[in-house]
Amino acid sequence: ENYLKLKSSYLFVEVARREQEFIKNNPDANVIKMGIGDVTKPLVPAVVDAFRNAVDEMADGETFMGYGPEQGYGFLAEAIIKNDYEKYGISLDTSEVFISDGAKCDTGNIQEIFGIDNKIAVTDPVYTVYVDTNVMAGRTGEMGDDGMYEGLTYLKANAENGFIPELPEEPVDIIYLCFPNNPTGTTLTKDQLKVFVDYAKENKAIILFDSAYEAFISEDDVPHSIYEIEGAKEVAIEFRSFSKTAGFTGTRCAYTVVPKELKGYTADGEEVEINPLWNRRQTTKFNGASYPVQRAAEATYSEEGQKQIKEVIEYYMENAKIIRESLTDIGLEVYGGVSSPYIWVKTPNNMDSWDFFDILLNEANVIGTPGSGFGPSGEGYLRLTAFNTLENTIEAMDRISKLEF
Ligand code: PLP
Repeated sequence: ENYLKLKSSYLFVEVARREQEFIKNNPDANVIKMGIGDVTKPLVPAVVDAFRNAVDEMADGETFMGYGPEQGYGFLAEAIIKNDYEKYGISLDTSEVFISDGAKCDTGNIQEIFGIDNKIAVTDPVYTVYVDTNVMAGRTGEMGDDGMYEGLTYLKANAENGFIPELPEEPVDIIYLCFPNNPTGTTLTKDQLKVFVDYAKENKAIILFDSAYEAFISEDDVPHSIYEIEGAKEVAIEFRSFSKTAGFTGTRCAYTVVPKELKGYTADGEEVEINPLWNRRQTTKFNGASYPVQRAAEATYSEEGQKQIKEVIEYYMENAKIIRESLTDIGLEVYGGVSSPYIWVKTPNNMDSWDFFDILLNEANVIGTPGSGFGPSGEGYLRLTAFNTLENTIEAMDRISKLEF
């Protein structure tokens, strides 16, 4: 019954249907896809070398590795702590870092450790995994005509409130936040994020902080980890991924931080440590990311690795800059794209998201993603991504710049 309530797979299916129909009717058109949230550049040499060496180890009886720790290898957890946390003054123990094969699975699976009666808040628009996994678990009713599931709290984020999600009006137990945000590409400053940490402390809520796009942060006042906010270890779980940071979308490696200080509460109000619960979940249902993949992820932290992945991020961010500037020049309102590979474009003349999608497809042969697919507050917006070649990005912007709205 819960799975039958799900609605949202419509978005990418419908985008693909319209694209196919357009290509059928216009076989010679050079369609540029700017809707995809997948990287386009290959793994960097430092990563490939480490990956190859680890495969060679697997081929030798002396160095072969079987099952590894379900929580991930210590060598990778230590590299993560040193490079992603200590740099920002955050100390963690390796037992607080859980390595996995993706932030999608982790952000999707995490809700299993919480009670079915917990009240959940998500931002609107949203990365739909947070919503759908709670629908699957049975924490919601049906989706209403307004595009919202009964029983979920939606925290609106749009141009009117500067994409700073509203605090929940009714008490909630769990808040999903994603910054830099997918789909809007916007960020929160330390002070803005602190408001949520303070709310969570006051209301005994837990923040599930997805920071899959951390590597794209370029603004000084944007925190790289929620744990930069004082007291956040008591109320937040953080999700990170090598997917967008280092092109691991097809290689698969991510991690989740569950601090020892983080507490939840039983129905009777008894305080419970969350870290052992996630450990129990992972050791029961997960057998670890593969050894070569974890060695490849470790290599992203070597001196060469850091230099090489930084160059790739800079390449994408040059595309993002071109998109932002070109669209701003023709009078469109654009958001994001500064500390994120996503650019969130306000449709001209209050057009709806799908009408704008159709104009870009039919008249510029450019494919975006209609904002309405990410939640009701995404209506009137369209998402473009910087994951493309520089040449395609320039060509797409040239074509859009010639349109008249
Ligand atoms: N979280 C967000 C916000 C994402 O946009 C994505 C991928 O698009 C993921 C998580 C998935 O990451 P992974 O490839 O590690 O599963």
